Amino acid sequence: MTDSRYNVIIIGGGVVGLAVALEITRRFPRLRLLVLEKEDAVARHQSGHNSGVIHSGVYYKPGSLKARLCVAGAAAMVEFCRQHNIPHKVCGKVIVATHAEELPRLEDLRQRGEANGLAGLRLIGPEELREIEPHASGLQALLVPSTGITDYAVVSKKYAELIAAGGGTVLTSAAANGIQRNTSETVVETPRGAFATASLINCAGLFSDRISRMAGDRPSARIIPFRGEYYDLIPERASLVRALIYPVPDPRFPFLGVHFTRRITGTVDAGPNAVLALAREGYRHSDINLRDLASALTFPGFWRMAFRYWRNAFGEWYRSLSKPAFVRALQRMLPEVRESDLVPGGSGVRAQALKPDGTLVDDFQFVPSGKVLHVLNVPSPAATASLTIAKAIVDTATFLSE
Ligand SMILES: Cc1cc2nc3c(=O)[nH]c(=O)nc-3n(C[C@H](O)[C@H](O)[C@H](O)COP(=O)(O)OP(=O)(O)OC[C@H]3O[C@@H](n4cnc5c(N)ncnc54)[C@H](O)[C@@H]3O)c2cc1C
Repeated sequence: MTDSRYNVIIIGGGVVGLAVALEITRRFPRLRLLVLEKEDAVARHQSGHNSGVIHSGVYYKPGSLKARLCVAGAAAMVEFCRQHNIPHKVCGKVIVATHAEELPRLEDLRQRGEANGLAGLRLIGPEELREIEPHASGLQALLVPSTGITDYAVVSKKYAELIAAGGGTVLTSAAANGIQRNTSETVVETPRGAFATASLINCAGLFSDRISRMAGDRPSARIIPFRGEYYDLIPERASLVRALIYPVPDPRFPFLGVHFTRRITGTVDAGPNAVLALAREGYRHSDINLRDLASALTFPGFWRMAFRYWRNAFGEWYRSLSKPAFVRALQRMLPEVRESDLVPGGSGVRAQALKPDGTLVDDFQFVPSGKVLHVLNVPSPAATASLTIAKAIVDTATFLSE
């Protein structure tokens, strides 16, 4: 017994699920479309707890989905914000090398960025760095002019508004609790009713692997939650940072290292670090979910990852528990910043897919299974690239045009 029938259901009202829904309403205006979101509003998880950076695409391996979709996606995001009067700014950023061994990695990044088609990348010396960011210090920096900032919660709400205007439905407080598949249709059970659909797209972020199993599939990767914690610069010291100041990232790790971000609201924060969260929606140290924890600890890839990255993990935990250690990491780029300048800020939890061999899935991953498509790895820069990711997903979901 179902309450309603749809041509396509999307599970997950984050920036990716909503962008996919928007793309479908634009490309297939006649399809009946439903987005199911478990929270009482959209963008309550990763999409509303991130740094708000419109990434340029400088970091990603040339030819990867991340590189292609981020570079085009950043331009599309700026244009979307402009069209819909969403606050945004293309403020540029500097990636600062503070140790000699980082200099070749900075040059590698420049070459990567150029291979990805970014314009205006330039290595600059300490004096020019100080003209751009008067309080930053380093041996050399890479200037990335196309990086910007916005607020992805606002972007997500605009996507939801446009989906409704295009004839789609976004249903909140509607967690997918069960999925039944048969040859002709799929039925999704929620507290707000059971909904039948010809096709299903899983954009459930931190729960995308679980939704995949609920739909009868066997995802090869497991979602491991990594919390990112921020400190806020107190308003009197926010003038230490004009725009975005980043370190040179560790190439073995998918996270960018703690950085300074001037938000679109004008405040400045520092972070996020990357610590293993003990719950998939564990925004605080004290948040523990035994099912989530068991899901990580019983996955063989987890122990292989722990063995490989234990040094990084230990460093991240130490910086998470010790403010002086966190501040020391920041002082490498901004020597004037003091412990008293920083107060605890927000946090976010990243959904990072992990393979059984212990490697972190680097690229975006979309996995079709009949008339179901699972979006299993869309970490940063997926908010930036949401519009182009949506196009790629809809291209992959060929069943939509059948
Ligand atoms: C700390 C941090 C900083 C980041 N910084 C940046 C940045 O500066 N720039 C950038 O481009 N990207 C950034 N990212 C990455 C970006 O935020 C994510 O890649 C993006 O938000 C992923 O969107 P999503 O829709 O897949 O996930 P989410 O926003 O997590 O959405 C998934 C949705 O699915 C819902 N859901 C889950 N299970 C169910 C169910 N059973 N039924 C119904 N609904 C369900 C959830 O409630 C959630 O709303 C950052 C991420 C984090 C955590």
